[in-house]
Amino acid sequence: MNNVDHETVDCRCRFAQLAPGHHRRLVSLEAHPLTSLVELIEMAATWGEIEYGETEPVIPPSEWIEFAEAHVWSDGDRVFDAFVALASLPPRARPLATVTPLRRATDEAEPALASV
Ligand SMILES: [Zn+2]
Repeated sequence: MNNVDHETVDCRCRFAQLAPGHHRRLVSLEAHPLTSLVELIEMAATWGEIEYGETEPVIPPSEWIEFAEAHVWSDGDRVFDAFVALASLPPRARPLATVTPLRRATDEAEPALASV
């Protein structure tokens, strides 16, 4: 039964009322995993640095696990794992206490040293 059309589902959860557009995109994670994952990874990784929700309300990463639990998926375990992983990306600390960037781009200059 993989034909659940999430994108047209009239969902009544609080997320749908809070952030309908973002809700629709999160729900479409299973239908369009790559598109959704890229967006969610970007959002999670920059959460606290970039001000989200200015143009449209968004569901914050801290609520993605709850979001996963609140919806029906074709492969619930996999979707749940994805959201758990994504939700763990944002730094826990406040934005002001950000960690300094570590060795930015220095690793790119050493291709396959460990291949011996
Ligand atoms: Zn919903």
